[in-house]
Amino acid sequence: MSVQPTHNLSVEELDKQSVFHPFTALAQHMETGPRIMVSGEGVTLKDRQGREYIDALAGLWCVNIGYGRTEIAEAVDRQIRQLPYYHSFASMGTEPAAYVADRLKRMLPGDMGRVFFGLSGSDANDTQVKLVWYYNNLRGRPNKKKIIARKRGYHGVTVAAGSLTGLPVLHNAFDLPVDRILHTATPHYYWNAEPGMSEEEFSRSCAEELDALIEREGPDTVAAFIAEPVMGAGGVIVPPKGYFEEVQKVLRKHDVLLIADEVICGFGRLGRMFGSQVFDIEPDMVTIAKGITSGYVPLSASVVSEPMWQVIMEGSKELGVFGHGYTYTAHPVSCAAAVANLDIIEAEKLDQRAAETGRYMQELLRETFEGEPMIAEVRGVGLIAAVELVPDPAVKKPFDPSLKVAGRIAAKALDHGLITRALPNGDSLAFSPPLVISRDEIAQCVERLARSIAEIRDELT
Ligand code: PLP
Repeated sequence: MSVQPTHNLSVEELDKQSVFHPFTALAQHMETGPRIMVSGEGVTLKDRQGREYIDALAGLWCVNIGYGRTEIAEAVDRQIRQLPYYHSFASMGTEPAAYVADRLKRMLPGDMGRVFFGLSGSDANDTQVKLVWYYNNLRGRPNKKKIIARKRGYHGVTVAAGSLTGLPVLHNAFDLPVDRILHTATPHYYWNAEPGMSEEEFSRSCAEELDALIEREGPDTVAAFIAEPVMGAGGVIVPPKGYFEEVQKVLRKHDVLLIADEVICGFGRLGRMFGSQVFDIEPDMVTIAKGITSGYVPLSASVVSEPMWQVIMEGSKELGVFGHGYTYTAHPVSCAAAVANLDIIEAEKLDQRAAETGRYMQELLRETFEGEPMIAEVRGVGLIAAVELVPDPAVKKPFDPSLKVAGRIAAKALDHGLITRALPNGDSLAFSPPLVISRDEIAQCVERLARSIAEIRDELT
């Protein structure tokens, strides 16, 4: 280990005294301190105390190829030695950026025009918002600017992306959402469908709610709708049957752009390369991040359709320079890592592998948990899933949030060497493992989760 503490405090103490942790209960962290991870191989992580964990969340839903792939280390090493940095402003460029952009255009469904690189899902969604506004100004529609997202959708944390996210914890005390960003219904069949409604009827009712919102606001003021194919961090919510078909009818009727946020679903997680392919989504814009480099180095992209690109490109003849971009847009080291990562995903057919092992994971989770006490539902597709708990499934009422049931199960799972995640809103535990996970490792994850749930159930009864 080459990074050494500068004085005699333990790493845990240094962290506690100096690191401002994201998405952390800060006061509690001052009591408990951090858990420091030091290495990873395949689906397994090791902490400083030498304890091992199966990472059933692939970091933050991102380490698609698993830990420890030397191909990425070698690609990054080569690029840093050859050209560690150059920008892409003012018509400059680098080889890896051109290779990744070309590859993405060919991989993505639909008629994609250009790829704008960023470094996080959040900045990529901020770029999408700005592109929508810019595009509609160029089309002579300066009033058509509102963007509709969904309650419980997750799109990031920056000012615009955090506004798109439909979770109160990202808004409270941050003065978000900003104007011109609205939220419509969560398509969660279990919680939100009226009794007796079929999935198709529920999908139609969600689309009608969206239609009514657009009519209320005025179709001339609504520019875009953003959705994850499967909502990830907000609860792993799989769209009910017919949902995107009905929603896309409404969007087309009102000339509203569709932004597919593929940050979690992209690069194989749902068993196809992109979530849009699973649900017949025809996006005008696609946001990608995470799996594009499997999280080894930061990279994201905002992709726009060919027709949008034509308007934006033509518009520059009047507007002049396109006034948006980061120092690190199209960073060559990130792009070199992406090329190596995409090579692995394609050569090892990780999308097909996710479809196969995903089927096994979904079956095993259902066999293990459905019908058990306190289990509300098991949901998921491919290699993403959630198990939700309620006190009594017959009554369909959530636990008192102060009991922190899912958080306690996730903590117990850590003791049993399993990293899962308690999701916001209700009590759900998420699985989203590296796509290289084996059946045996999945079985171990499910057994460890079952043990953790049983132990917390005993504490509660
Ligand atoms: N969009 C989706 C669907 C995400 O899941 C996330 C992060 O989890 C983001 C956007 C934001 O990405 P980042 O955390 O890289 O800013």
